[in-house]
Amino acid sequence: MEVIYRSTRSNSEPVTASQAILKGLSDDGGLFVPDHIPALDKSLSELAGMSYQQVAYEVMKLFLTDFTEEELKNCINNAYDSKFDTEKIAPLVQADDAYYLELFHGSTIAFKDMALSILPHLMITSARKNNIKNEIVILTATSGDTGKAALAGFADVKGTRIIVFYPKNGVSPIQEKQMVTQKGANTFVVGIHGNFDDAQTGVKKIFSDKELAKEMDEKGFQFSSANSINIGRLVPQICYYVYAYAQLLKDGKITEGEKINVVVPTGNFGNILAAFYAKNMGLPIDKLICASNDNKVLYDFFRTGTYDRNREFVLTTSPSMDILISSNLERLIYRIAGNDADKNRELMNALSGNGKYEITEEMKAQLADFYGNFASEAETAAEIRRLYEKCGYVIDTHTAVASAVYGKYVVETGDHKTTVIASTASPFKFTRSVMDAIDIKYDAMGDFELVDELSKIAKVKVPNAIEEIRTAPVLHDTQCDVDKMKDTVKSFLGM
Ligand SMILES: *Cc1c(COP(=O)(O)O)cnc(C)c1O
Repeated sequence: MEVIYRSTRSNSEPVTASQAILKGLSDDGGLFVPDHIPALDKSLSELAGMSYQQVAYEVMKLFLTDFTEEELKNCINNAYDSKFDTEKIAPLVQADDAYYLELFHGSTIAFKDMALSILPHLMITSARKNNIKNEIVILTATSGDTGKAALAGFADVKGTRIIVFYPKNGVSPIQEKQMVTQKGANTFVVGIHGNFDDAQTGVKKIFSDKELAKEMDEKGFQFSSANSINIGRLVPQICYYVYAYAQLLKDGKITEGEKINVVVPTGNFGNILAAFYAKNMGLPIDKLICASNDNKVLYDFFRTGTYDRNREFVLTTSPSMDILISSNLERLIYRIAGNDADKNRELMNALSGNGKYEITEEMKAQLADFYGNFASEAETAAEIRRLYEKCGYVIDTHTAVASAVYGKYVVETGDHKTTVIASTASPFKFTRSVMDAIDIKYDAMGDFELVDELSKIAKVKVPNAIEEIRTAPVLHDTQCDVDKMKDTVKSFLGM
């Protein structure tokens, strides 16, 4: 059955999957959502016999129904190849009493690679299918990891340019170095004087600037998004939950149909929404455990039913989760409002107006699948150290937030179901915070000295993504104020 995509903010004409991927965001500022969640049409035991690429096809074909089999398989094969340092693409590692789903084996060693290695292929295929002649300008706000993964994905892709905005003082030194050393004549990187929410709001504003869109069209350009507001990012993220379940089944860790819990370190709510979609496709997931850092706006929301961004923005050691406006939550709100665009728009207007909204009791009752909690900086560091000392397994700060929250969940509920924790970044991406957590003596070492030390204690080879930037020259040094983002875009495009 065909899946079409509607905006969460108005009842405008629905679009096809390829049109939704091209546009990124709907003209009314809403996010595209599938009109229904398709059910898996292969049994779990059939999926257990499949490779990552095969599972990806079985999931994505159900959402991207206007792609031909050949088009979709081409996209998948071009994405999940030797850019990943393991044939499994997303291996499961058992440590202590949970399974860590390592989503960081792609070229930029964070889970964003899982979707951003395929998005450029979905995008150019969509452009061809819709006879688009304009050059596509990818505009992206990043809290650190999306930026590099999107740059790597789109660098030198014909017919595209990519512009990335990151918070100048809000990313790790390795994250920044990865971005500013990016090669490719079609890549642009800008540090903004503001935080991630400023970057994301600025980008959304540029997207909904109708006058600018017209001017761009005259010059042969059109915008799209590589952020997780793009359905072309969300759909590929569903695949690894299905794959993880299939691997557990294949390895005899669970029986067919047995329910598992999933824990996701959450920022923009994209990754956990993908898990929620997987559950709604029929994957036997029980609880979706939403883990936050000190920016615990989601924890408060699940507890109280009030989403309130009016609070201090805290810079933490898990910067990719330093977010107060979780964009993808809008897709869930729309759904629990009964797919009511007017109701959702009202709430989102309240959010952009006075910074908060409250859902009804009826809506709140539909959030029973979710459990929210958070981990403080001290709890996060203690979890890294605990797991290392107990199992010799080193996790990054984001994964540690999830792992610590999982510990709280088990204590609170006594629920010991088989659990998969999304491991969203390599510890090498956040080396200093990780090593300081293990032993503060490491703080005296230089950035790359620490990398070598981490490799030694974790008995893991230094990933290529890190080797590459040791000596790479800085190629991007643009900075701008938040209110100059539009001018910066225009100057990059020679407008
Ligand atoms: C982006 C990111 C997250 C948050 O994921 P969302 O989909 O935005 O919730 C968590 N951890 C890491 C390492 C990330 O890069």
